[in-house]
Amino acid sequence: MRLFYAALALEANTFLPLPTSYQAFVEKLYYPPGQYPAQQSHQTGAMDALRARARRGEIELIEGSCYAAQPGGAAARAAYERMRDEILGQLEAAPPVDGVVLNLHGAMVAHGYDDPEGDILERVRALVGPDCVIGIELDPHCHLTRKRCALADIIVLFKEYPHTDFAERGEEVVDFVLRTIRREIKPVKSVFDCRLIASFPTSIQPMRGLVDRIMALEGKERVLSVSIGHCFPYGDVPECGARILVITDDAKPHGDRLAEAIGHELIALREQAAPPEYTVDGAIDFALAQQGGPIVIADTTDNAGGGAPSDNTTFLHRLIARGVQGAAVAPIWDPLAVRLAFDAGEGARLPFRFGGKVSLASGAPVDAEVEIIRCVPNAHQTFAGAIVPLGDVASIRASGVEAVLISTRAQAMGTDLFSNFGIDPKTRKILVVKSNQHFYASFSQIAAQVIYAEGDGALPRNYKKLPFTKIERPIWPLDATAEPKLII
Ligand SMILES: [Zn+2]
Repeated sequence: MRLFYAALALEANTFLPLPTSYQAFVEKLYYPPGQYPAQQSHQTGAMDALRARARRGEIELIEGSCYAAQPGGAAARAAYERMRDEILGQLEAAPPVDGVVLNLHGAMVAHGYDDPEGDILERVRALVGPDCVIGIELDPHCHLTRKRCALADIIVLFKEYPHTDFAERGEEVVDFVLRTIRREIKPVKSVFDCRLIASFPTSIQPMRGLVDRIMALEGKERVLSVSIGHCFPYGDVPECGARILVITDDAKPHGDRLAEAIGHELIALREQAAPPEYTVDGAIDFALAQQGGPIVIADTTDNAGGGAPSDNTTFLHRLIARGVQGAAVAPIWDPLAVRLAFDAGEGARLPFRFGGKVSLASGAPVDAEVEIIRCVPNAHQTFAGAIVPLGDVASIRASGVEAVLISTRAQAMGTDLFSNFGIDPKTRKILVVKSNQHFYASFSQIAAQVIYAEGDGALPRNYKKLPFTKIERPIWPLDATAEPKLII
């Protein structure tokens, strides 16, 4: 059995003026065929499962290119077409394959393409023919379009948010693809469109319970896989919205009933799914009133994982103005400030300007007398065992407030985002992390408490503030009434 694998991942925030170039992919994750290292990443979750089978001699694996960029604005047209055509060229040059497995994230937008993943699948299908089995692993923050569902035989989304289960879901995609090739199963999809946009962290109730319930359904009564597409609300494309995907082994009526029932469960919890958010000063007040620490505050509106610049300074300004001691903020994306810190060197004290650069939503830069704590070239943090590059990193201290300045944009994921740069996160009173949810898996291990704050960054939780033009209406909460329905 011969399989082809490639990856192309971008979560595109169509509301931001941050173009995603070819270089942005290369800086984050790019491996030509055969050069992928023995490390895991949530953008390439199926790779390990395929390599393990190739090592055991069960399959012949043809590796294509792997690309993933940090979430940002829509991909430049030439960048997207270059990567797409590179991967298609590799597939075309390969001997005939029985299966194709792709990691695609699922929320890419490119200039001229609202559904690049659908475009890729259409071209792959044209190359491999109707009998080849195509399986894709997607992020739950994807646009689960009708076109993709029609073109891919197997689609499995991560269930967890934070996305800690990318390896398990990748294993499932590969397993289902191989069983379909062997004609052991006949996968049939049911898709329910919930007609809503919202955020669904799975580490807290009531979403935790729903994820546990869908996992208990799998492997019984011909149910192969159940996925909840959370949607990516900052991607203004026609089919943006939460959808339920059930894949059965040739039992569509049962799949339809399940998809609809799970869809209504998701609709019922949509208003309680996301945790309450403090204001910036409300979050600082709360943290200062607690015994012990650290109190971890998520600055959700400046989450690079949703495409935000991650250089909003509102928390920094308020912490410094209030004279707070023992607070640390990370990450602040400011390559220029990092360069200046490297030029000054560790231990230097100087007047210093940082943050507040990319857009109006970045706020005003901070000007302060700072001490350079650490300068680390080519640095990283970790997420669920995976290495997340940060470029050159400088940590600085401005009176009682420390900040970690990074050169390669990323959201807060692991506590080593502080500890790698001379800041012991366990001993700080307040840790402000620029992330919506991925920080949680690691930071909840050391936090006395985790709270969420709505700052004034680029990602408002109130979606009515976003200037949608393409999304199909009506959809909740933009419209008071919407009509959920089975669409496949
Ligand atoms: Zn995601």
